[in-house]
Amino acid sequence: MKTILISNVLLYKERKDVLIEGNKIKAVERAGTFPVEKYDKVIDGSRKAIIPGFVNAHAHSAMTLFRGVGEDVPLDQWLRERIWPYEAKLDEEMVYWGAKLACIEMIRTGTTTFNDMYWHLNGCKRAAEEMGMRSVQSFTWLDHFDDATIEENKKQLKIAHKESANWSSLTTFAVSPHAIYTVAEKSFRYINSYAKDNDLLVHTHLAETRAEMDQAEMEYGMSPTEYMNKLGLMNPNLMAAHSLWLSSDDIKILGDNGVHTVHNPNSNLKLASGYKFKYNELRDAGANVCLGTDGCASSNNLDMIDSMKAAALLQKVWRNDPGAIPLKELMDVASLNGAKALRLKAGKIEPGYLADVALVDMAKPAFVPNHYFLANLVYAANGDCIDTVICDGKIIMEDQHIPGQEKIFRKVQEVADKVVDYKKRKKK
Ligand SMILES: [Zn+2]
Repeated sequence: MKTILISNVLLYKERKDVLIEGNKIKAVERAGTFPVEKYDKVIDGSRKAIIPGFVNAHAHSAMTLFRGVGEDVPLDQWLRERIWPYEAKLDEEMVYWGAKLACIEMIRTGTTTFNDMYWHLNGCKRAAEEMGMRSVQSFTWLDHFDDATIEENKKQLKIAHKESANWSSLTTFAVSPHAIYTVAEKSFRYINSYAKDNDLLVHTHLAETRAEMDQAEMEYGMSPTEYMNKLGLMNPNLMAAHSLWLSSDDIKILGDNGVHTVHNPNSNLKLASGYKFKYNELRDAGANVCLGTDGCASSNNLDMIDSMKAAALLQKVWRNDPGAIPLKELMDVASLNGAKALRLKAGKIEPGYLADVALVDMAKPAFVPNHYFLANLVYAANGDCIDTVICDGKIIMEDQHIPGQEKIFRKVQEVADKVVDYKKRKKK
């Protein structure tokens, strides 16, 4: 098995040697413990710090293609008038290039795993594996309450699931019913029993906007959370993105059932969906709180450090409590909790954990002086401070270099120009 020694690296307050063997962290000892000549690769960590790779628990990777499209409109209008018409033009190859760009951006900002929800999942999967990233790729289900679409989706879900048997250990298959306003009740019931029978994660959007709450109240006489609970979806297989508009009864349902909730602060702010994410209440009720960026068309970047900062600032201001969400806890929300939700032993720099780590370049103004590393990381720096990334024991970025990046940028611009035709749009 290949070995990597990261020597004399800062782990929060102490200098350590971190030894990686195969795809796991083998040992974490005081600096100077391991002789550098013994290992296949040695990284000098004397100007670097080590952190667990971030787990982006809610993303639509290939939406990088739509970065900057449909600005300044509400979610419903944004989906119906901009995103869905553009997405109808996409094929697997286009999605592949969009997802490649997403991977570059995530790697450059320290993410090693992402929970993806997008069309043409094989394009996303191929991109992630080529870039060396861990991901959950799901069959995305929208039916707009149309029976023929529901039957077709059932067929396609089975086909995609069967194909996933050949995937590498980096990628996990899941199923993503989009949201209660795009997926029929009978579809949710079908997906739920299919996921239970096959032990699959279910990834959905839940309680994202005030409009979704009002619609659920009008159509079902209950909240989106109560509605999903009624359909049996509230269980530890569920990743509920947003979970923003929640009553105390909703929080109890999410907590009692060990649901994984994913906060996406930048997307919620930008689409004006809301800002009072009930972090303390969800955590105390027993829900697992994770962090995500959402897609680049709504939050515009995939930088988890940027998302951590937004999450922390929001908690502080809406609670009127500068002590809200301590930094150590926030770091777990952005890494360990997401890993738990995705059933990975990752998110800690400890022996036995997956070797999914990022190295921070400490030779940046944001880290001088270094009184408190996590405060510098979250409040002073941004994703550009990431220098080297290791995923599954393999170096996927070294000294900020990712092979093939320029070609990917060129291809993405070509694809994006085909899908979003500005000349035609202007004529309309
Ligand atoms: Zn989303």
